[in-house]
Amino acid sequence: MSEYQNENDARRDILEVGRRLYALGFVAANDGNISVRVGENAVWATPTNVSKGFMTEDMLVKLDLNGNVLDGDLAPSSEIKMHLAVYRRNDALRAVVHAHPPTATAFAVAGKPLPKSLLAETELLLGEIPVAPFAPIGSRELADGVAAYCAEYNGVLMARHGICAWGVGAIDALWRAERIEFAAKVALQLKMLGWEI
Ligand SMILES: [Zn+2]
Repeated sequence: MSEYQNENDARRDILEVGRRLYALGFVAANDGNISVRVGENAVWATPTNVSKGFMTEDMLVKLDLNGNVLDGDLAPSSEIKMHLAVYRRNDALRAVVHAHPPTATAFAVAGKPLPKSLLAETELLLGEIPVAPFAPIGSRELADGVAAYCAEYNGVLMARHGICAWGVGAIDALWRAERIEFAAKVALQLKMLGWEI
């Protein structure tokens, strides 16, 4: 899957990923956001102020890559700027997931990247996950700071904030977010066993 041919599939995947992020405990309250690129200059995204676990299709917002709203009644999240910066930077990507999974977020707060060589599967399927420098939520600086990593890495920890992961589809981006949290949990438990991470 390299591109969403059908906008209904794109919207359906956003709702499904939202339910899973909420069930996994990766997004508290109305945290997090999800987007999917459906064309050269079109993205479907989650709105502001809505729990990602209980969304319906009519809540989603369609935007162009500059953030102009093309369709939908609700306002997009201010963090969608970060998603749009990622799409502008890497044309191969079709989905972005931003969430606050607790263990990976703790690594982000501590300024500790996830090493790629801890687990065989992490090395193969995820790679190193670096820490993007802190910038205020919704700022251009944060958007560009995160997007700077999207050509070389599969996701990033966001200092004092959470994580951002991307992929060729929404489920692909979700899986990367899951792998990031899994690697962070194992790293934390290794540290509790006395390993130097
Ligand atoms: Zn956030």
